[in-house]
Amino acid sequence: MEQITQPQEMQQIAFRLRAEGKTIGCVPTMGCFHEGHLSLMREARKRCDVLQVSIFVNPPQFGPGEDLEKYPRDMERDVHLAEEIEVDYLFVPSVEEMYPESYSTYVEVEGMTETLCGKARPGHFKGVATVVVKLLTIMMPHFAFFGQKDGQQLAVIKRLVRDLNLPVAVVGLPIVREADGLPMSTRNEYLGPEEREHATVLNKALSYARGMILSGERDAARIAGESRMRVASEPGVEVEYFEVVSTESMQPVSEIDGEVMIATAARVGPARLIDNLLVRCNGDEVEFPDSL
Ligand code: AMP
Repeated sequence: MEQITQPQEMQQIAFRLRAEGKTIGCVPTMGCFHEGHLSLMREARKRCDVLQVSIFVNPPQFGPGEDLEKYPRDMERDVHLAEEIEVDYLFVPSVEEMYPESYSTYVEVEGMTETLCGKARPGHFKGVATVVVKLLTIMMPHFAFFGQKDGQQLAVIKRLVRDLNLPVAVVGLPIVREADGLPMSTRNEYLGPEEREHATVLNKALSYARGMILSGERDAARIAGESRMRVASEPGVEVEYFEVVSTESMQPVSEIDGEVMIATAARVGPARLIDNLLVRCNGDEVEFPDSL
């Protein structure tokens, strides 16, 4: 495995690999790997000749007062895990290289970034969209792999790739969960043992919503309202949102029809946690796809 820190060097390698006819797969991350990250890497490893993984904790996607400084980092362990998966290129640029002095270009995806996490974290998706376009331009993959865990982020990245005609296929992969249903997340490290137990309520509430849909309920407000109450009544858990949105627009819908995402975010102690459930509904036929 080669570790690259210079964007220009990474880009030159990508040019060479493409000229050699290699299929490049890329997995952008903020590091501190867990099974969620590793599942993306394994899938990319299977599908592509060359596997690039980036580790970059991207300041513009963190708001004031968020956890940028204390975001967990563990390069040594990440390098070891990446080697086990046979990552070919680990791209680890510095903030100064990605955002040099007088940096002034940002990518904004309108509309669909104004709901859910975008509403609670203004500017977050502008930061995400900008770094993703930069990473895709530097690493030039044929395929880029992202997790359904960050469902709105995946939808936003698919949209920006389409809108800007970026020559890459975005692949969404399922949420990897702990045994009790909690989605794996770097931020789970912030949870104490009791908070960790309370955190499972998010997935339980989504399962409850799933049950309502399976019993024929189609009223989005009723489903979101009842499920939200379950989260809200859990001690130590503060719901930020619990909504049913269209997967296309990320705007709230009134009915479960077509493809929708039931998405929730909550604060549990020091952590802000998110989870979601995809639903594809055509009359009585209901499916729960595992990724967009
Ligand atoms: P992060 O390092 O948190 O920015 O995540 C990097 C990539 O891993 C993103 O595409 C995430 O959606 C994905 N990811 C994070 N957690 C999970 C998980 N539990 N299951 C699947 N993918 C995940």
